[in-house]
Amino acid sequence: MGNIASNLKKVLATLPDAVRLVAVSKFHPVEELMAAYDAGQRIFGESHVQELQRKVTEMPTDVAWHFIGHLQTNKVKYLAPYISMIHAVDSMKLLQEIDRQAAKNDRVIDVLLELHIAEEATKFGFSPDDCRELLSDGAWRDLKNVRICGLMMMATYTDDTAQIQREMETAQRLFDEFKSDFFANEPSFCERSWGMSHDYPIAVETGATLVRIGTTIFGERNY
Ligand SMILES: *Cc1c(COP(=O)(O)O)cnc(C)c1O
Repeated sequence: MGNIASNLKKVLATLPDAVRLVAVSKFHPVEELMAAYDAGQRIFGESHVQELQRKVTEMPTDVAWHFIGHLQTNKVKYLAPYISMIHAVDSMKLLQEIDRQAAKNDRVIDVLLELHIAEEATKFGFSPDDCRELLSDGAWRDLKNVRICGLMMMATYTDDTAQIQREMETAQRLFDEFKSDFFANEPSFCERSWGMSHDYPIAVETGATLVRIGTTIFGERNY
């Protein structure tokens, strides 16, 4: 645990100013989050609603919480009062529910659309075609309490760095396409969330603006 501050500083030293760090703290105890907090980290990523609910009450109030996991619609209501960003929106139904719960809380919630580009069949997310279809359908423009701020993806878990790079480049091309086709006048559509402990250096090279890093900062998780 004594290493958390120095791990964090090492990671930050490799990130350009334009790339923000989401410290992925799932399964780690609050004392470890506090070590990162005391070293200056303010954006934390969690992927389980119950765990996040508990940590929110134990951590300082100026933490920006990002929900990075798969989110079920029936749990949106728990996050809606405080969540800073929801990374993995993968259906219109979820987008509508976030809008509904955000309205109840009188706020606008920032979200990213999750793309499925990786080869693994188990990963969630929109196919590029489904994502394009949702955006061109236009119904999302009526959702006044969600703001689509960009795209998120997880590359295939592999040692093949060329493959990771190809997948991230595909995501970046889709971002550019969607930006010019649907968000040309919206500066808030600017985020690309890709890169984890094993592949964030590639992500930094391929347009990421948010990297989600857990293990490199906090060590291995005990599930
Ligand atoms: C757990 C998780 C991460 C962080 O993974 P590490 O390999 O520990 O850096 C990033 N993104 C998502 C969506 C995750 O669930």
